[in-house]
Amino acid sequence: MAATHEDLVRQQQLELQSEYLRGSRRLRWDAERLASERQRRLRELIAWSAEHSPFWRARLAGIDPATFTEADLPSLPILRRDEMMGEFDRLITVPGLTLTRVMEHVKQVDSGDQLLDGRFRAIRTSGATGSEAYHLYGADAFVTFVMQGSRWTGRRGESPDAVLAQIFSCSPQHESGIFHAFSTFTSGGPPSHCFDGGTSVPDLVAQLNAAEPPVEALQGWPSVIRLLAHEALAGRLKHVPAWVSVAGEVCSPLVRDAVHAAWGLELSEFWGCCEGTYAFPCGVGEGMHIADDLVILETVDASGNPVPYGQPADRVLLTNLYNLDQPLIRYDIADAMIITDEPCPCGCAHRRILDVSARMDGVVELPDGVRVERRRFETLLLAFPGVADFLVTPSGRGVDVAVATDGACNTDELARSLVNLLADHGLASPVVHVRLVEAPERLWSGKVKQFAQ
Ligand SMILES: [Zn+2]
Repeated sequence: MAATHEDLVRQQQLELQSEYLRGSRRLRWDAERLASERQRRLRELIAWSAEHSPFWRARLAGIDPATFTEADLPSLPILRRDEMMGEFDRLITVPGLTLTRVMEHVKQVDSGDQLLDGRFRAIRTSGATGSEAYHLYGADAFVTFVMQGSRWTGRRGESPDAVLAQIFSCSPQHESGIFHAFSTFTSGGPPSHCFDGGTSVPDLVAQLNAAEPPVEALQGWPSVIRLLAHEALAGRLKHVPAWVSVAGEVCSPLVRDAVHAAWGLELSEFWGCCEGTYAFPCGVGEGMHIADDLVILETVDASGNPVPYGQPADRVLLTNLYNLDQPLIRYDIADAMIITDEPCPCGCAHRRILDVSARMDGVVELPDGVRVERRRFETLLLAFPGVADFLVTPSGRGVDVAVATDGACNTDELARSLVNLLADHGLASPVVHVRLVEAPERLWSGKVKQFAQ
């Protein structure tokens, strides 16, 4: 007999509750217990991948899963995004499933079946960093993914029952869109409204003002939250949120300033990636705690050499310990960050991300074969006084840069800094145009479009 909607909701409520309890218990595990859990899962992942994936069988040849440890990970090659996508069909461990079918599923998911073959979730990257990638999860693994945040529920003095407005993507092509399906008013998760970050600001304000039950807390892309704070200061956005948190883009100081000015609140930031993990602040110690039982994050330099925890790293490599359908071992997710394994004053032994300074991958191609890493623009622009958001477009012998500002940006000075950046990379007589825009362009996911190329 087919399950009714009520049966499915009841089932999902049970799954969410059990995942929540499992996750919150693990916050009390000491570092040794977490390490032994990672080791157990890592060995299982290595054995499973070598057995079920032709790609991993070749790459893991000669590795003994029974003795492999976390410390051995640097002996394995880094898995880059283009390689993962190029080898997708050989890399996944689901017989008969192909990238073509995954892409076809994602294309129809906004209005069609949510599950591929009745048991898989598939999502694509937001479009913000370099080339596009697809990620596949069994339905259970996806519950583990989205519930990583729930273990922190209520820990930061944020009422878990506050009616939340999530302003990321509403499309189930993105994990935030599916995430919302777990937190509707009937799903059993914390109640929330879903608004699309790509909505124009006046429409978004109108929707937020009209929402029933009324919005009590805000969560969204930093670039959207900043604009909403300005709408509140102008008296157009009526609600006073009890808390505000952001994720998904590098959060510039202007976002924090705007939130503080509008509502007198300290902004809370979390970090996530569609490769399967979230990191959350505990509200006591600095930074965001990693789900240390479910993933391994290794910090490396630009050449892929290990960087000790505590030191700034150019990139981070993710090993997903719970998604056996699409094994990701040392997967390059590009973000520049500092991770610490120092004990947190909150008592939780989960490692922490202290700072994310860049998320961009790829290069901007300029005349005469000059290539400038996107993150060089990203860090320069987001650190420049007054710049909130930007869009870089190659043009002639340089770049056009559209910037959204807080009104205090010296655009001549900014243009000079960008000219110097291009000249430092060997471009002769670079030309840079900086122009001001009200609101940044956005990608399909609602994130800011930062690079036209
Ligand atoms: Zn802590």
